[in-house]
Amino acid sequence: MPYVSALRCRECSRRYPLDPIHVCEFCFGPLEVVYDYEALARDLSRKSIARGPLSIWRYRELLPVLGEDLVDINAGFTPLIKAHRLGQALGLEELYIKNDCVNPTYSFKDRVVAVASTRARELGFDVLACASTGNLAGSVAAHAARAGMEAYIFIPSDLEQGKVLGAAIYGPTLVAVHGSYDQENRLCSELADHYRWAFVNINVRPYYAEGSKTLGYEVAEQLGWRAPDFAVVPLASGSLFTKIWKGLKELQQIGLLDDVSTHMVATQATGCSPIITAYEAGSMNIRPVKPNTIAKSLAIGNPADGYYALKTIQESEGAGAAVSDEEVVEGIKLLAETEGIFAETAGGVVVAGLRRLAQAGAIPRQALTVAFITGNGLKTQEAVAEHVQAPITIEPTLSAFQEALERRQATASARAG
Ligand SMILES: *Cc1c(COP(=O)(O)O)cnc(C)c1O
Ligand SMILES: [Zn+2]
Repeated sequence: MPYVSALRCRECSRRYPLDPIHVCEFCFGPLEVVYDYEALARDLSRKSIARGPLSIWRYRELLPVLGEDLVDINAGFTPLIKAHRLGQALGLEELYIKNDCVNPTYSFKDRVVAVASTRARELGFDVLACASTGNLAGSVAAHAARAGMEAYIFIPSDLEQGKVLGAAIYGPTLVAVHGSYDQENRLCSELADHYRWAFVNINVRPYYAEGSKTLGYEVAEQLGWRAPDFAVVPLASGSLFTKIWKGLKELQQIGLLDDVSTHMVATQATGCSPIITAYEAGSMNIRPVKPNTIAKSLAIGNPADGYYALKTIQESEGAGAAVSDEEVVEGIKLLAETEGIFAETAGGVVVAGLRRLAQAGAIPRQALTVAFITGNGLKTQEAVAEHVQAPITIEPTLSAFQEALERRQATASARAG
């Protein structure tokens, strides 16, 4: 790889070859990809990037793949939308939505899986696998189908129906595990030692994680090569959060951004908020929790990158917020009713967290703020099904419609008092 030299331990800096490995043999620290930023600064420009494809692969030099044979279902380059009406509701004048609901499998996970599956194939794997909280399942299954690879997908047994079907349709071996995500993940770590499979978020995790940087790159490019003042992000393992920050800092390092003074804002649901709890206690120690929230895509009780997420908050002078499940539902509805975007529960967490922080004055009115909406609401219909108006059912006549309309208006005005 022209711009990637090695993996390196985040703790003791020992170097490793670009193999399917993820922890340091000496100190058990996580491994991370090392780039040659001088060469990247020399060779990359805003113009050269603009000539690339309208997908994450426009940043391929900044990703850890040889890249001759991409597993590509067209992940990324999703819309960045100025959110006038949501901004007005929250008292924010420069609010943008990064709408990752519209990725090929309807979540940001396509970014990480595109990179992981491409690298897995380069490393000679025939089988893709994952331990999923939900969205990863569909994305791995779709990429495996595209690559002609076999897929073993592990999901929690209480997963939302839309996510089960959204993975099953691609024809993987789908395994529902009784227990929490954390138990499922432990099982998959064991399986990764037994089978020569590429578990995208376990043994090839260093490559996988880099895919999230593209969210930072895209937002900066779409803002006209500016970094936002605030980035509001949902956290499960914490990986996405740390990598958006890494992506922005890299653009600065290679001279594509002048200044990065982004405050990274972490959001979780109170039913699973080990990272926010540590942040609020001023601690760098994550205490694992047993998740109980409708935000299932974020329900990781023992987050692998929790410590680094806390460091990212610290370094970026960021903030954090945890919100209740009721607020999550309100957040989903507010985003839908103001901007026409139907997000899953993780999006509700972000909007509700943003609302909290805007109301508290922690995000100033004029700040350039980006809310990262990472998954599609059609996958978590259970969360809002009871909270929307049922359709009016009528016979196909004018009078039936008019009567029904009068009844609806009467109940509405009675309710309004
Ligand atoms: C997986 C996921 C996240 C966060 O993932 P990390 O483990 O923190 O990288 C956020 N939103 C959605 C919708 C997800 O599926
Ligand atoms: Zn180490």
